[in-house]
Amino acid sequence: KNYQIIIEENRRLYNEVQELKGNIRVYCRIRPFLQGQNKKQTSIEYTGENGELVVANPLKQGKDTYRLFKFNKVFGPASTQEEVFLDTRPLIRSILDGYNVCIFAYGQTGSGKTYTMSGPSITSEEDWGVNYRALNDLFHLTQSRQNSVIYEVDVQMVEIYNEQVRDLLSEDVPDASMHSVKSTEDVLELMNIGLMNRTVGATTLNEKSSRSHSVLSVHVRGVDVKTESVLRGSLHLVDLAGSERVGRSEVTGERLKEAQYIKKSLSALGDVIFALAHKNPHVPYRNSKLTQVLQNSLGGQAKTLMFVQINPDEDSYAETVSTLKLAERVSGVELGAARSYK
Ligand code: ADP
Repeated sequence: KNYQIIIEENRRLYNEVQELKGNIRVYCRIRPFLQGQNKKQTSIEYTGENGELVVANPLKQGKDTYRLFKFNKVFGPASTQEEVFLDTRPLIRSILDGYNVCIFAYGQTGSGKTYTMSGPSITSEEDWGVNYRALNDLFHLTQSRQNSVIYEVDVQMVEIYNEQVRDLLSEDVPDASMHSVKSTEDVLELMNIGLMNRTVGATTLNEKSSRSHSVLSVHVRGVDVKTESVLRGSLHLVDLAGSERVGRSEVTGERLKEAQYIKKSLSALGDVIFALAHKNPHVPYRNSKLTQVLQNSLGGQAKTLMFVQINPDEDSYAETVSTLKLAERVSGVELGAARSYK
């Protein structure tokens, strides 16, 4: 196949790149075709075990058809929630050792962001996304360590819509309210309240959730039983607003305003992660509410993981490439078709 040539040529290149920069990781996840959907053509040509992904442009022919991307990991359409979590768990566990961790789901609406973060339902554990599995794992670990470290866990849940931060767990407090939790059940209960508050004013949950960012923050404080030293870590689980671009001619009024705010905050996030990956002295946190809210947990010793969600459909090709390009930029490894044919 033609794309084999691109892969071979680029392997040399990214062997030189060694590790992805610093504490930033990018995992790509490809959604399967959905049941009941007519089997369409796919733009995903190849996924490699080592994080390689080749997409095919339906409008081109020959060698120009293919474009190669490289991430820390690519999860194909058959990947399970458990597999995805297993590769996320070490990062999550590090918060108990005092790290700050941010996990983002990025992609166009319908690409599986909520599926990866929350899962399609909470009634069946098999369906659980990263959020619930992470919390479950954390509570198990804190219990198993309780003879040496006493942990306290607090959660916050906010939504960022049109550059306004709204607490989803209580009303009329100046800052996002903190809620002490002792078990996964406690968190599930709070998350249900948060989800209900999120739908206020929207016709459907999906309508609202695709246009706002939701941030679930877990703060952990551990006190060493012997030394009494205190250790703090945090985990932010962020389901981002849909990244699809909307043409100016297509939308007006409220919808246009929303689209502009989303675009602004997603590019501000991209700029911050890019600056961190490239160890730039100036990191532009102030450009959006999202990056302001997360400022203390992005950068420094903090660890960042971005799930790049992909809709496999050929019709989504343009969005797919734009999503992948942003991810490639933040990860610090840009290959690009042009480079492979010089
Ligand atoms: P987004 O949050 O990006 O808008 P969703 O998570 O709501 O997208 O996913 C869109 C649809 O695709 C939902 O019906 C969801 O259950 C389904 N879906 C997404 N990812 C997967 C997956 N990995 N396996 C099976 N179904 C998926």
